[in-house]
Amino acid sequence: MIDQIKKLEKSSRLLEPGSELRSQWNTEVIEYADRFINTLGNQKAYEIEDTHADRIYELDICDEPTSLTTLIEGIDKGIDTAGINPASAGHMGYIPGGGLYPAALGDYLAAVSNRYAGVYYAAPGAVRLENMLIAWMSRLMGYPKESVGNLTSGGSIANLIAIVTAREAHQIKARDIETSVIYLSEQVHHSIHKAIKIAGLTESKVRYIPLDKQLKLSVSALEQQIQEDVKQGLKPFFVNATVGTTNSGAIDPLESIANVAQTYGLWLHVDACYGGFFKLLPELAPKFNSIERADSITLDPHKTLFLPFGTGAVLIKNTTQALNAYRHAADYMQDTVNANEEISPSDVSPELTKHFRGLRLWLPLKLFGLSPFKAALQEKLLLAQYFYHELQTRRNFELGPEPELSIVMFRYTDGTEDSDRFNKRLISSIQKDGRVFLSSTSIDGTFWIRAAIVIYRTHLEQIHLLLNIIDEKVDELKST
Ligand SMILES: *Cc1c(COP(=O)(O)O)cnc(C)c1O
Repeated sequence: MIDQIKKLEKSSRLLEPGSELRSQWNTEVIEYADRFINTLGNQKAYEIEDTHADRIYELDICDEPTSLTTLIEGIDKGIDTAGINPASAGHMGYIPGGGLYPAALGDYLAAVSNRYAGVYYAAPGAVRLENMLIAWMSRLMGYPKESVGNLTSGGSIANLIAIVTAREAHQIKARDIETSVIYLSEQVHHSIHKAIKIAGLTESKVRYIPLDKQLKLSVSALEQQIQEDVKQGLKPFFVNATVGTTNSGAIDPLESIANVAQTYGLWLHVDACYGGFFKLLPELAPKFNSIERADSITLDPHKTLFLPFGTGAVLIKNTTQALNAYRHAADYMQDTVNANEEISPSDVSPELTKHFRGLRLWLPLKLFGLSPFKAALQEKLLLAQYFYHELQTRRNFELGPEPELSIVMFRYTDGTEDSDRFNKRLISSIQKDGRVFLSSTSIDGTFWIRAAIVIYRTHLEQIHLLLNIIDEKVDELKST
């Protein structure tokens, strides 16, 4: 048996490369990363897949090792070419973020030390760091010190955590589901629908509150609907307000919604996934009035703090409510209970073992300080306004509401042909060109093109490029 163990040891020790091999791998990875970043200016924001795009399948898992050189080539050719390039300054579709380099270094360190960030007892420093980041976000939102939260993989999971907390706080059991009422705006993000479904609340009554002209939730319509529901013996329980809707960046009127929520005893959730970090700009603070009255707030550092994908956040004002929804005891976890001075991520989320996400957020925030983040956010706001006004000076462009944050909706319409059809052709020719990437949406059945100026790398140069491309493509389409 000893012989067999020793033989196995020899092979299993291959999993621990020596410092020479590590250094060789590091060099190769860093060279590739450097090349990627240094050539971003020549890379497209969007590339339609070529016919050999599925070559990553050639690198399927097998018993034999493959060289890093071959694997990096596979990443280069099979992954980092086709589709949207989320690191590109020209990516203005959906809601991008870019991906800050020091976040990659944070991920690297978190993976090497493999700190167990789910439980305070196991990694007090890691949990303190994540709680410190949550406390910073809580202060930013005007939340009390006692509030808790969690760094999630993204906004969707953050919304799910909030909705389950709301369900538990309002003690909605199976028999209550059909009489409970949820209020959403017509512009709510679809991750809220998904969360309602996963939370087992599909059979609740869901009311879609109409919008005003600025595409914000109409509070008078909300209150009217609640009163009707109460009259019918239903139980209004949850209302969602969005800070920065995905389509247009509109901010729902928080103060009036908070008043209504308070009057009727609703859980107020604020989905600030896109817009939340704009609160870093003092001149925007009035738009956030009353956000601190929400029972829960979600934020997405992988959008407006420019992190690589994989970081969202949820804040829950009432600690007991959060713990009621998520804290769980298990026999094999008995060592972890006594030392619990700090709330552990596993106490307020569905996860137990988790990636130490805090490091990828903390490292860039500390290395750069907050100032360049604020500058970048302010720059995006101004770029959106500039783009909006430039389009205004052009003939035949219909524009959405003046951008409240950094999203602009527009469509070309000169009355000579079906506008929806023309704008579909316009966006597909912009996407085919690929130097910039925009996405589209539809509001009340009307087709709109939208530019979401969010990536920290997007500057005036890219907005000029975008305007030139729009002009060029309109001319091309009009002349054929
Ligand atoms: C992006 C977004 C979400 C979903 O967040 P993910 O990080 O993509 O899961 C939810 N709500 C709003 C308003 C968003 O913009």
